[in-house]
Amino acid sequence: MSTSDNCKDGVSKFKDGIICDVNDKLQKMSTVNNKNDVSVCANCGKEGANNICNKCKQVKYCNAVCKKVHKKKHKKDCEEYIRLATEKHNEKLRLAADLHDEKLFKEPPSQYGDCPICFLRLPLPETGRRYKSCCGKTICSGCNHAPVYDNQGNEVADKKCPFCRTIFPKSVEEGTEREKKRAENGDSIAIHSLGNYYRDGKYGFPQDHTKALELFHQAGELGHSIAYNNIGFAYLNGEGVEVDKKKAVHYWELAAMGGVAQARHNLGCIERDAGNIDRAQKHYMIAIRGGNDGSLDTIKQMYLQGDASKDVYMTALQAYQEYLGEIKSAQRDEAATANEEYRYY
Ligand SMILES: [Zn+2]
Ligand SMILES: [Zn+2]
Ligand SMILES: [Zn+2]
Ligand SMILES: [Zn+2]
Repeated sequence: MSTSDNCKDGVSKFKDGIICDVNDKLQKMSTVNNKNDVSVCANCGKEGANNICNKCKQVKYCNAVCKKVHKKKHKKDCEEYIRLATEKHNEKLRLAADLHDEKLFKEPPSQYGDCPICFLRLPLPETGRRYKSCCGKTICSGCNHAPVYDNQGNEVADKKCPFCRTIFPKSVEEGTEREKKRAENGDSIAIHSLGNYYRDGKYGFPQDHTKALELFHQAGELGHSIAYNNIGFAYLNGEGVEVDKKKAVHYWELAAMGGVAQARHNLGCIERDAGNIDRAQKHYMIAIRGGNDGSLDTIKQMYLQGDASKDVYMTALQAYQEYLGEIKSAQRDEAATANEEYRYY
């Protein structure tokens, strides 16, 4: 809906109302000189004027002579036109910034969702979950560690995927081959992984930052927001692209809105460096609710330095406890005790 539609409906919000007012004023001022869309000279009143005032671009004249004669008389109006147009432009910018912030600070989804077997929230650390190249599911450390049973209730000796019962790949090569196939079929997690392999030049992939970025963009567009976090880092470090901090922030914002806690933490740090303590705290708080302990440490530091109130620090501790409450389980504890590589917080 355009702003002028809002005006007609009479249901515009207060902020839209300012633009409507300015629009109305501009329109009223213009129509004085433009009857029924026929261009009339602002000086002599003749029709067919097409020499426009190049300052305000609101009034027309037959020629340079009429323009010159009218100059003194028009001066006040001209300045008013420019003032209103600037006001309108600034208000538009303010509205766009507000809308952007509204989206940016909205509570994002949890980064990895829930484990499809135990239905508990997936933990943030990589060791707390495993991606399965057989079915494309991400399974928690607890469910991955737990023994798999067959239909008769006997423990399966060969390690099988606890979700789809496919036998585990026998080698790294077999695993990456499966990932390649899944990527070809549009699995955004697999596409993102291949991007990582190209970026780091590992598992037999040649290091290729351009190819990596292409895959990250593809994965991000398919909804795997962590790929945007990587694009942000590529712009920060100039990997495959020119260093561009603005673009880094743009991609971290996309990642953060998709629930990526690390990107949210990065945004917090940028705002903190810029002295925007309120915005920094807002970002850190969302990151903490998403399980980012780095943001919790930062809030603690800020509290000790007098940059965050005790209330803010307490709320941060509480938010992290809430996250832990959602991810903790006896099965996951058991896996972590049995194997360091299953640590999940
Ligand atoms: Zn004229
Ligand atoms: Zn003018
Ligand atoms: Zn699970
Ligand atoms: Zn599977």
